[in-house]
Amino acid sequence: MRKNSQNNRANLISKVKQLVGTENVLLAGAEKFEEYCKDMAGYEAIPLMVAQPQNEQQVAVIVKLASQHLTPIVARGAGSSLVGAVVSAGGIILDMQRLNKIIKVDTVNWVAHVQCNVVLDDLNDVLDKLGFFFPPDPASSFIATVGGAINTGAGGFRSVKYGTMRDWVLALRVVLSNGSIVNLGEPLLKNRAGYNLSHLLVGSEGTLGIVVEAWLRIIPKPNTKVHHLLALFSSWEDAGKAIRKIRAQKMIPRLLEFMDREALTGARRELNSKIPVAECALLIDVEETEGTDAKSISNLLLASGSSKVIVARSTAQAEDFLRARALFRLVVNSLSPNALTEDVVVPIDRLVEYLTFLKELSSKYSVKIPVAGHAGDGNVHPHILYDANDPASKKRAERIFEEICRYAIKVGGSVTGEHGVGAQKIRYFREQLAQHGGEEVLPLMRKIKQVFDPKGILNPGKYVDREARSLSPVGSTAPHRSTS
Ligand SMILES: Cc1cc2nc3c(=O)[nH]c(=O)nc-3n(C[C@H](O)[C@H](O)[C@H](O)COP(=O)(O)OP(=O)(O)OC[C@H]3O[C@@H](n4cnc5c(N)ncnc54)[C@H](O)[C@@H]3O)c2cc1C
Repeated sequence: MRKNSQNNRANLISKVKQLVGTENVLLAGAEKFEEYCKDMAGYEAIPLMVAQPQNEQQVAVIVKLASQHLTPIVARGAGSSLVGAVVSAGGIILDMQRLNKIIKVDTVNWVAHVQCNVVLDDLNDVLDKLGFFFPPDPASSFIATVGGAINTGAGGFRSVKYGTMRDWVLALRVVLSNGSIVNLGEPLLKNRAGYNLSHLLVGSEGTLGIVVEAWLRIIPKPNTKVHHLLALFSSWEDAGKAIRKIRAQKMIPRLLEFMDREALTGARRELNSKIPVAECALLIDVEETEGTDAKSISNLLLASGSSKVIVARSTAQAEDFLRARALFRLVVNSLSPNALTEDVVVPIDRLVEYLTFLKELSSKYSVKIPVAGHAGDGNVHPHILYDANDPASKKRAERIFEEICRYAIKVGGSVTGEHGVGAQKIRYFREQLAQHGGEEVLPLMRKIKQVFDPKGILNPGKYVDREARSLSPVGSTAPHRSTS
């Protein structure tokens, strides 16, 4: 689809420079250009240029130019994608970092109106002062942007109680592939007018439009007491059974995370954490309600096979436990030069079986697979350790990755719970559709893509694209507060 002549490229670069200023266009060789050639799982591609627009009008003109020059265009928030969704070979990387204003916080309608590149933690800092919060909190929330999180359909620690980004997006302002600007949805708690196009864009990985603003639902901070518990287990099976019991008791924790021995010992070693070590642990936060207090939850966990339950006695202790979980990626980095992060999700009643399967895989291939993740919604993240410089090790890791995806499909799960499809999961996403009665779904999705983006300029080669190809991650570039 590309008019790829040198003249065409030079012409495009010159027009974009004229529009946003030479200082806001980065070309190969520029100091920071390399940062835009990869995501945080190490997927790499070299773009034609990086453009840093100042406002939505400039975004619209750049998209129009990309359309005229038949050049791919990929919006970028913080670039913390883990699936190769935010890199582009030969295209324009649209760095949205200058669109970073909180436009309005409406404490009556409970709506935050923001530009796309507001960082999630920055939004919550402002909301906190007003007694509100925005629940979706990916482990990367200290860098992840609203636009990136919307387009990834991100989840996080609190998803088990509060859901994912999709549950909190009311309306979007979007630049379409022809350069026109539209509002999708209404900033209202109820709205039944028309197809839900704003939610269609959630999780669309920049393939349907460029989000420039969002209206997000916010809620008052709960004023109930939150109990922070750490339950230790001598087997993964017991931990899995405890989760089943919590569900069966109709209890809704606000955080329910799994950590294996490797994660616990690593946190003590690498992070100076005081978290105790066991075969595995569940980290649980529960808001106090009638009949649910620290004692009743502890009793339930002990009755479910926990060898010890620690109720955090201070905020510092609770923060130490959460930090141990949140910085898991640093522990992984200390164990191996490279790691493939899995993101499959399984039905919660299959979690025990899934955890057992991971143990079996680890011994079958003699590969360490440390595990931590969002156990409360069936989305734990095995990290398959490998060495990118050793072809046999890389091949083994890919084989394990594939087995995990196929396992999830087989038990009625999904190949991605939150990180998305990008370039990484294209093949397995298709297998999932084929095996879950969705043969007609991919053609339908492609038709939707065709309507939004007839020239195929928006993030091509990913997701549902015909020309899709898998890029291999070449290394790990995780930042310094990590993991999913
Ligand atoms: C250490 C670590 C921990 C993580 N933990 C989690 C986790 O707990 N849960 C989770 O869901 N994810 C997690 N992730 C993945 C990722 O960080 C999040 O999904 C995050 O929300 C992505 O935000 P971003 O701003 O970095 O987006 P980017 O990586 O910049 O972009 C992601 C996708 O959105 C598109 N995009 C970005 N901005 C726009 C826009 N304005 N308009 C249209 N498309 C756009 C991009 O093209 C790309 O397809 C983690 C990643 C890391 C490195």
